[in-house]
Amino acid sequence: MLKGKVAIVTGAGSGIGRGIALRFAKEGADIVIPDLNLEGAQNTAKEIEALGRNSLVIKMDVSNSSDVDRMVTETINNFGKIDILVNNAGIFIQKPLLETTEADWDKVLDINLKGAFLCSKRVVKEMLKRGGGKIINLASVAGQVGFANSSAYCASKGGVINLTREMALELAPKNINVNAIGPGSIETPMTREMLADPAIKQMLLGVTPFGRIGQPEDIANAASFLASGESNFVNGITLFVDGGWLTQ
Ligand code: NAD
Repeated sequence: MLKGKVAIVTGAGSGIGRGIALRFAKEGADIVIPDLNLEGAQNTAKEIEALGRNSLVIKMDVSNSSDVDRMVTETINNFGKIDILVNNAGIFIQKPLLETTEADWDKVLDINLKGAFLCSKRVVKEMLKRGGGKIINLASVAGQVGFANSSAYCASKGGVINLTREMALELAPKNINVNAIGPGSIETPMTREMLADPAIKQMLLGVTPFGRIGQPEDIANAASFLASGESNFVNGITLFVDGGWLTQ
């Protein structure tokens, strides 16, 4: 249970982030929803308020350090503390290597990898004042094995997995757990286009021994564990929630 906790879930205006935010709210946490997409964030906030919890919507870009500063200042002004940070905001650009531009590369790395670094760095300062906290990064199976036509994405998620290990090592003596979740194929707006193509959907089902596409709730179950006291001795791991994709 997360009663009385304050959690920031970046990118909670959609998909997996929304699923995690709603699960945390059901467990009693108040939720900060930083997202570029204001409308999505406001919709999530309405669902959180309907669950009887407080929420705070912040329109911001995780790759911009002054936005990240503002996110933390507004959170502290409203809730006074941060117990949990979920670095979930991310983008996926699917292009063959030779068509991937320098701008594509920079954008994916800036949001998926630098964003996690900037948010963690700023939030850790607040966690240190209160003697600990939990950080959960969204990685991917594509950070562990190659996934064709997504060079920048694979590089960013591989980076997230090793950034998680590094931060776990550095922050354990400060009572901060840092872990990652590596989703397989999950049905969200990010994957809508891919899953609408029957051939791609079949390929994704084919690499998933459980034979189904995952749901945001599958990831929220893992996030709930990693945010709770049940995982106090778990540090630096990437928990793959992939229906068995990586067993092959
Ligand atoms: P999504 O596109 O449904 O949601 C992503 C959210 O992040 C959106 O609300 C978007 O507005 C927000 N966002 C994007 N850039 C941002 C920025 N610069 N600043 C703030 N917010 C920003 O995607 P999703 O499928 O829910 O993915 C969530 C996370 O899970 C991502 O990190 C993604 O890489 C990872 N993931 C997803 C899958 C999957 O199959 N869906 C698989 C592996 C990993």
